[in-house]
This record gives sequence, structure tokens and C-alpha cells, in this order.
Amino acid sequence: DVLLSEGIDFGSLLLSPAVLDGLSAAGFQKPSPIQLKAIPLGRCGLDLIVQAKSGTGKTCVFCTIALDSLVLENPATQVLVLAPTREIAVQIHSVVMAIGCAMEGLECHVFIGGRPVSQDKVHLKKCHIAVGSPGRIKQLIELGMLSTSSVRLFVLDEADKLLEEGSFQEQINWIFSSLPVNKQMLALSATYPESLAQHLTRYMREPTFVRLNPNEMGLKQYYKLVQSHPLAHKVFQEKVQHLLELFSKIPFNQALVFSNLHTRAQHLADILSSKGLPAVCISGGLSQDQRLEAMSKLKQYQCRVLISTDLTSRGIDAEKVNLVINLDVPQDWETYMHRIGRAGRFGTQGLAVTYCCHGEEENKMMAIAQKCDLTLSALPSTMEPGLM
Ligand code: ADP
Ligand code: MG
Repeated sequence: DVLLSEGIDFGSLLLSPAVLDGLSAAGFQKPSPIQLKAIPLGRCGLDLIVQAKSGTGKTCVFCTIALDSLVLENPATQVLVLAPTREIAVQIHSVVMAIGCAMEGLECHVFIGGRPVSQDKVHLKKCHIAVGSPGRIKQLIELGMLSTSSVRLFVLDEADKLLEEGSFQEQINWIFSSLPVNKQMLALSATYPESLAQHLTRYMREPTFVRLNPNEMGLKQYYKLVQSHPLAHKVFQEKVQHLLELFSKIPFNQALVFSNLHTRAQHLADILSSKGLPAVCISGGLSQDQRLEAMSKLKQYQCRVLISTDLTSRGIDAEKVNLVINLDVPQDWETYMHRIGRAGRFGTQGLAVTYCCHGEEENKMMAIAQKCDLTLSALPSTMEPGLM
């Protein structure tokens, strides 16, 4: 399994014996690539921004770091985890308890709205790890029920959702300012939009970024050369022909297509839809609501292809995407990495194909490959289904 780090198990991450027992009892045998990268850094006490798409195993990253440093003899809350929804909070709690199953006396509780505060008060008498929604956690701190003086680790799970416009920004600012200055902070996120970056710099001074590169994700990367032509729309047409052929031959699950130009993105969406391949397009011209609607179509499987420009690529999180297409060679290597990072997930293979014209585009692609140390091959003309 390419997404399970070969030969390396949790045992080599120098975790406490109880955490190792818990991981194995919870069925986590080997760390996923993001776990392998992030857990050792987190154990060193660094502030981390862990950005990897959904399904790559981010929950286990912070649960392991949290449990490994816990002082069970101290009943005070040492770890505070914020989550954007009740479901996620409950899920985090169950992962903490699963990995912490060998830690006798471990107390972790969920604090969310819609439940009596009196019950929270009982739970807070002994609660090593508090997991909750920003609203309820703030309320409990204000009421003096949740003491923050012993908090050493502050975690924002799904930081992109927690800090998105109109959600919990104010509450999180408030909670943050009630915490001790000396603490470690972890932010985990599937996407990394500009607004999130701005918020996180208020909370973390020199965060370490943890991301996967395409090789670590088990992605197969190909390029396909097409004839160059002085007329841009001819090139576009030819690339679309190749793309249609690829879509008809490869048993992909869902695909993301990146275009450098947003007019082409919309045009392509129309072409694909007319060929019976449900496609939606997101671009800078759409409102936030329209973008969210397109994203939710992809997530609910109402479309198989999402077409985007780079303006919107930073917000895309799609667990089931296993094919990424670059209709044009991206401007720089950072953009390439960012686009490619949208494909492949825990335990599945992904495929990336970049279309480039002979000449300038081809050279640009080779420069990116060299810069990023990518294993890149020409797309085989047969394109058997086994390519995926
Ligand atoms: P993310 O938060 O990145 O979206 P999750 O933490 O929810 O991902 O994990 C996705 C799935 O992968 C879960 O079902 C989880 O149990 C499983 N998983 C995570 N890490 C491992 C591992 N090391 N070994 C096996 N399964 C794992
Ligand atoms: Mg998660």
C-alpha cells in the first residue's frame, strides 16, 4: 500500500509505551505519511500547521501528540481542542479514547451546545483533554468552570472551517487570549486559504508547515505533449480532445481539472457536461456561496469533474478525487504542488496528468519537475485502466 509508509511503524517515533499500545489496539499499525511527518515535529513542541486533504489521518496526529505529553496525575485540563461541529468533536473524543485506551485514569470530554452546563461542570472536575465547540468552550471559561491555566496544547481541528468568515473568529480570539502564553499550538486543515493564513499568524509566531509532496502521496505523475499552435484556441481544442480520451479510458473516481484561464474553465465545463460527464466550474468570478455549492456537488457526488483556476484551488478539499489534470502547465512549482496535493488519499492511488505544448510549456514543466524532484513520465499512449 503506497500510502502506508514502508517499513516504518509507530514504534520508531519514540512514543510512550502506553500510546504505542493504544495505537495498536485502535488498529493503527503504521503511520500515514502525514502522521510520519507531523508527529515527531509535534513531539518536539513545535507549533504546526498541518495541511493535507481529508482522509489523510490528521486526527491521529494531534491525538497522539496530545496523549504522549499528558500528565495523568494532574487532573487539570492540559489540552484544549476546538472543532467546528458537534460530530467532529464527538469523533475526536472517540479517537482520543481509542488511542488512550491503555492510559489508566484518562479523562476526555466533549463540550458542545445543547447540553446542560451542569453536566459539563461535573466532567470538568477531572478532564485532561477538553474537546468542544468554540461557543461552549468560551462560555465555560467565562463561567470559571474551565480553568485554562494548565493548558499546554491548543488544537484547532479543521482550522479552515473554524476560522472562515462569519464562523467562530471572535470566540477563538477570545479563547486564545485566555490561554497561557507558553503553550504549543497545532492547526489542522484540509485547505489553506489566504484568510486562514492571516488568522494563524496572529496566533503562532514561527509555525512549521507540514504538507505532503506528491511522491509521499503515492501519486503517479505524467505529462502529455501536444502540438503547439499559434492560435490559443486550437491548442485548447487539442488538449480537450486528449482529455476526453483520457476520461473515457481511465476508471477514475472524481477528477479535478486546473486551467490557467477562467474563461476556458467555464468552456470546458460546458463541453464535458454536454458529453455526459457532469462537471462544474469554480472560478474567482463566483460568489462564496456559489463556490461552496460547487464544492458540495463534488462531495455529494453530483458531479464527477470539478474545474478550477488557481484563484480557487486553495479552498478545494475533496476526499474522493483521484485524478488531477493540469490543462496548462502551472505558473510555478508551488502552484503545481498545491494543485497536485488535491489528489490521492489514505490508502488509495492517485494520478496526475499535465498537458503541455512542445516548446515553452514543455520546458516549464521540466523545470518544475527538476525543482521538485518529481518522478515524471510521458503518458503512455495505450492508457490502460491499470494506469490508475
Ligand atoms: P482527516 O482528519 O485527515 O480527514 P481522519 O483523521 O479522519 O482524516 O482519518 C481518516 C481515516 O483514516 C479514519 O477512518 C482513520 O481511522 C483512518 N486512519 C488514520 N490513520 C490511520 C493509520 N495510521 N492506520 C490506519 N487507519 C488510519
Ligand atoms: Mg479531520
